[in-house]
Amino acid sequence: MKTIIEPFRIKSVEPIHFTSAGQRRQLLQEAAYNPFLLKARDVIIDLLTDSGTGAMSSAQWAGIMNGDESYAGSDSFFRFEEAVRNLTAMPYIIPVHQGRAAEKILFTVKGGKGKYVLSNTLFDTTRANIEFSGATGVDLLCPEGHDPAVAAPFKGNIDLDALTAFIGQHDPADISMVILTVTNNSGGGQPVSMENIKAARAICNQHHIPFFIDCCRFAENCYFIKHREAGYAHKTVLEIAQELFSYADGCTMSAKKDAFANIGGFLALHDAQLAEECRNLLIITEGFPTYGGLAGRDLDAIAIGLTEIVDEDYLKYRIRSIEYIGEKLESHNIPFLKPTGGHAIYLDAKAFLDHIPAHQYPGQALSCALYLEGGVRGVEIGSVMFGKYDADGKLTPSAMELVRLAIPRRTYTQSHMDYLAEVIIAVYENRSAIKGLKITYETPFLRHFTAKFETV
Ligand SMILES: *Cc1c(COP(=O)(O)O)cnc(C)c1O
Repeated sequence: MKTIIEPFRIKSVEPIHFTSAGQRRQLLQEAAYNPFLLKARDVIIDLLTDSGTGAMSSAQWAGIMNGDESYAGSDSFFRFEEAVRNLTAMPYIIPVHQGRAAEKILFTVKGGKGKYVLSNTLFDTTRANIEFSGATGVDLLCPEGHDPAVAAPFKGNIDLDALTAFIGQHDPADISMVILTVTNNSGGGQPVSMENIKAARAICNQHHIPFFIDCCRFAENCYFIKHREAGYAHKTVLEIAQELFSYADGCTMSAKKDAFANIGGFLALHDAQLAEECRNLLIITEGFPTYGGLAGRDLDAIAIGLTEIVDEDYLKYRIRSIEYIGEKLESHNIPFLKPTGGHAIYLDAKAFLDHIPAHQYPGQALSCALYLEGGVRGVEIGSVMFGKYDADGKLTPSAMELVRLAIPRRTYTQSHMDYLAEVIIAVYENRSAIKGLKITYETPFLRHFTAKFETV
């Protein structure tokens, strides 16, 4: 087999600013050992997130120039609406400035005290918007999804038995919806199978519970379905996506993910009444229903991005580039979440730095070590992000201690990925010298963004 090459040529470039190891030691100390507090220009390979960090195509940039900035009824809106409708076949399509705005509007209408929202795993902004409305978010991930070392094809599936049991123990009228996150971002970018989606939909139907999709990475998910699930090998990713959306009553989308845009999102719905309530809220917080917090040019970039994302040469390269890093790590026995998912590598910091206890934050220590070694910035997804204090002020750690290295779309080349693997391998070889951290400053909510640390 020949090398799978990047399915694009480069027309416009952005220089990378290099730093020396000595400079990085100084910069990280100034950032209080929290990579979120580094300046982006001091990062060599920035894998903090794949959200809004991708490269737009020349067609998208041309679309930007074509943007119609009319306040109401712009051509850009109709191009955007057509692109979303082609995928979802949903009649009501509401643009928003990013995914969480769709969530805020949806759960303001559908949430509320005493309500439950069930999911495979709720993404953190989704959970925050559910809980802010007074409702309770419940994650019902399948058992294999909890084990970082087991390689199963659809570790993002919802646990159907747990779903049935939960519905049996509650009044179905109190369950606002089931919303499946595809791929499962917080669970390692792992896909959900079509079989699981269909079965969850069928359970919802029996109890008249609405069924939604958080579709931020729908194309990556559908690519996995094509290659891992029986009966889909001969369908196009677009056809698979259309089938996936056909089971849903609605969906929320961040166009910063699988729409190749730097900003944007949408809420798409089948129900006219719900759409009207959502649009009423949209006008208060986002804007008129044909632009929803976006410029006309953004709507065009999203419309074009949604057609490019289902290109299978792109998806093959995308999924392969993540798998490629995984293979390099595997050959050095470096622990990471298996199998590799759609948009990121998740290093298993608990196993990687098994000499650092949870209360000394191995994930944070590992993300600092990656920066010091090679200027790579990832994000801790462990006890800094999810740890809670008990009544005695003792840390209750997160179940997993991960470092997520999210790969921006179409942004880095294979040599960047080779460099990344070299940095991880070098850190692994010297792991015994890495020290744990203690927190010197933190805020009560979402502390990972601003916390400050010292080495112990
Ligand atoms: C990013 C993301 C969101 C939120 O979207 P924003 O555009 O960041 O507001 C919701 N769900 C999932 C699965 C995501 O990855």
